[in-house]
Amino acid sequence: MILVSACLCGINTKYNGENNLSQGVLKLIRKEKMIPICPEQLGGLTTPRKPCEICGGTGGDVLDRKAIVITSDGKNVTDNFLRGAYETLNLAKAFNIRKAILKSKSPSCGYNKIYDGSFKRNIIKGNGVTTELLIKNGVKIYTEEDISSGSKV
Ligand code: SF4
Repeated sequence: MILVSACLCGINTKYNGENNLSQGVLKLIRKEKMIPICPEQLGGLTTPRKPCEICGGTGGDVLDRKAIVITSDGKNVTDNFLRGAYETLNLAKAFNIRKAILKSKSPSCGYNKIYDGSFKRNIIKGNGVTTELLIKNGVKIYTEEDISSGSKV
């Protein structure tokens, strides 16, 4: 069983009410048992919603309450992001999930690279909040970029 960002499966969970359908992920869904999740929805945010970025650090800093997540109009949504991350972890534990395919660069699902909080599309090294929590709990992370470049999951 593999966790997957819902937006990569073509489900309209993205902040603008659309999705990030990945053809590679779509192919994999037909072969593997996968559970689509959207941590931002699980954290109580609406769809559509304002875009969000981590401000002052990375997902790990948010988990340690050393950085916050804000919307593009300045609202602090850190608690929603933390709730979504822990709900995702609950699900991963319930199904004994060891692998996840998550959407690159997202403040929740990003792996190795995220936006820097300026809303200017600047990238920094780091993980999203949910990704970081899953890694800390032994889940191996892949992105849609790995899947389209042919990485085995
Ligand atoms: S939180 Fe993750 S699953 Fe939800 S829309 Fe953003 S990238 Fe996709």
